[in-house]
Amino acid sequence: MIQKAIEMLQKHYGYSSFREGQDQAIASVLAGTDTLCVMPTGGGKSICYQIPALVFGGTTIVISPLISLMKDQVDALLQLGISAAYINSSISGKEAAERLDKAKRGEYKLLYIAPERLESFDFMDHLKMLDIPMVAIDEAHCISQWGHDFRPSYQRIQRMVQALPKKPVVLALTATATPKVRVDICRSLTIQEENTVLTGFERENLSFSVIKGQDRLRFLKDFLKKNEKEAGIIYAATRKNVDQLYERLKKDGIKAGRYHAGMSDADRMAEQEDFLQDRTGVMIATSAFGMGIDKSNIRYVVHFQLPKNMESYYQEAGRAGRDGLDSECILLYSSQDVQVQRFLIDQSSDRERMPQELEKLQLMVDYCYTENCLQRYIVRYFDDSDIAPCGRCGNCTDSRESQDVTKEAQMVLSCIIRMGQKRFGKALTAQVLTGSKNKKVGDLGFHKLPTYGIMKEKSTKEVTDFIEFLISQELIAVEHGTYPTIYVKESGKEVLMGNVTVKRKEAVRTKQVGNDDPLFEVLRSVRKEMAENEGVPPFVIFADNALKDMCAKLPQSDEEFLQVSGVGEHKLKKYGEHFIKAITAFKKQNPEREALGSLESAPVKPAKKATPNSHLDTYALYKENLSIAEIAEKRELALSTVENHMIQCIQEGMEVKLLDVVPPEAVPQIREAVQDAGGEKLKPIKELLPDQVSYFMIKAYLLLEKTSV
Ligand code: ADP
Ligand code: MG
Repeated sequence: MIQKAIEMLQKHYGYSSFREGQDQAIASVLAGTDTLCVMPTGGGKSICYQIPALVFGGTTIVISPLISLMKDQVDALLQLGISAAYINSSISGKEAAERLDKAKRGEYKLLYIAPERLESFDFMDHLKMLDIPMVAIDEAHCISQWGHDFRPSYQRIQRMVQALPKKPVVLALTATATPKVRVDICRSLTIQEENTVLTGFERENLSFSVIKGQDRLRFLKDFLKKNEKEAGIIYAATRKNVDQLYERLKKDGIKAGRYHAGMSDADRMAEQEDFLQDRTGVMIATSAFGMGIDKSNIRYVVHFQLPKNMESYYQEAGRAGRDGLDSECILLYSSQDVQVQRFLIDQSSDRERMPQELEKLQLMVDYCYTENCLQRYIVRYFDDSDIAPCGRCGNCTDSRESQDVTKEAQMVLSCIIRMGQKRFGKALTAQVLTGSKNKKVGDLGFHKLPTYGIMKEKSTKEVTDFIEFLISQELIAVEHGTYPTIYVKESGKEVLMGNVTVKRKEAVRTKQVGNDDPLFEVLRSVRKEMAENEGVPPFVIFADNALKDMCAKLPQSDEEFLQVSGVGEHKLKKYGEHFIKAITAFKKQNPEREALGSLESAPVKPAKKATPNSHLDTYALYKENLSIAEIAEKRELALSTVENHMIQCIQEGMEVKLLDVVPPEAVPQIREAVQDAGGEKLKPIKELLPDQVSYFMIKAYLLLEKTSV
């Protein structure tokens, strides 16, 4: 039977093999065993019940907690050529009755239903008339009061299963790993605990990082500008935070959507639709947003404030990169958020759970301070198991130099003490240090302090940021009264006495996620057009990784198109022609583009062997003082081809001047990026640079820096 399952995987989904745990879960279900499947978000749980549903006869029932999720899942199945439908409160009673009739006639392989339906006797009577080989329970943690999304109706599932004339096999699926929740699920569905399929919790395509002691708004803006083509979520702590951030970004010309519980249902729905359809790239939201969002092409999740615990954090951050492509999860840490979260816990009515919640918050803060692998911290937190350092996260890849800032720290600390401690906040302290003429400073007599103006070569903003950094190093603490005030901690006094030095790393630079392959952009727009025609979100047509695979394989026939990961028979028929046409046209315009070139090396591949001396013709024109663009135009070649020629010339020792091929302003930028990246690998260097600086420029720089300028 598992052989049949692989056939289905290839035929319908166009994937060549199962992922970790999928085959095990499917085999277990096909053998008739009630099973619990625990896999991280994006692990591929849907396939674990969809494929058995295809192998079994009859109609598989899927219990799913959210309306939007059901619709997307059914849309995705229809796109694969698999018959499916859903019944929930978004459709009329008449429609529901029609769908039930069709189900009785066996017209659906899968029928998604909302758990609340199980509360209706009438509905149950109808279900008894269906041929149901399997009941799949998605987001099964909703069964448990210990989970984060408890849904009372989920507790009716077991009764429904028992009421059916023929006992179906039960498959529960969740991404929540905590043992307590697992036990609860097994108990309420009478699944034997040993029939649990549990995969690792590492997400191999996610890079986690924590940014602290840095201006977060500036970091965010910079990041968004670098990644404007990609989709992402920014989580903020409160409705007010969401609205503020939304306005700030709007002022800067960054178009974003927003989502929080204070908005009307209609507004929220419209914002969500725009995001799912790739009409808005960034969504600013509270934690109310995201459950039930299966959008697979989310390239980043930024937390603008500290979440309340690791459970929420991993769940929210985990919404990035469901399609398996590299994605970023960034947490912007500021010490004051800890106070906010403490306050919220303090306000919550549940006194009994308070100590536990405070402990969880502390572990969340510890995450922000660890210098070890972040992914490893997460896995240990959930699973008590250990993994090797991921090599991707902010800590694993941190190669920033640190600078001794002990003297500056002493200036700030001594100023705080002289200002009387616990009386004033960051802003006034920074004003005194920079020698501000502010009236308040004079009124308080602070202009007479010996620390007045000792940092006057810096701006107030810079000094405020530096104070924030010292807070993040726990040398200064914040006291939260009517106004937050600051004071020097014991550890800060050690610094003042010269017993401890303070080191500060330079700011973390923003990265570009995704890629800037022009063909990818072409395919992205073809996908968008198809999606609009079909009235479904673009990721339902093809995931980003399918587009990426097309970029690598450049399929130009049906047969080749079928080789693309994510292309099954149905999608070939439906979309093959459009995509093949676009790829063929692109290839015609960019003849040097070859199949299977990795995206990184494609732009700087050596010239093709077929015309071995073409680069010499390019060189001749270069010697006539033509620019690269002019050469390309004159020779009717793609710019990248001419760039490859130039690289080849340099490699062969011909004389090329750096400033002829790299714009002068880019040279110092590249130099700095090369130093920061700490190596000559192109990709890490490129990530540190603005988009306009191409791989070609970097490569030319690396080859030429020793000989010219
Ligand atoms: P989960 O429900 O566990 O969060 P999904 O079922 O939504 O994850 O799957 C996440 C993504 O992974 C989807 O885009 C899906 O098509 C893809 N996927 C699942 N299984 C495979 C596989 N065997 N090979 C390639 N891609 C897969
Ligand atoms: Mg899922």
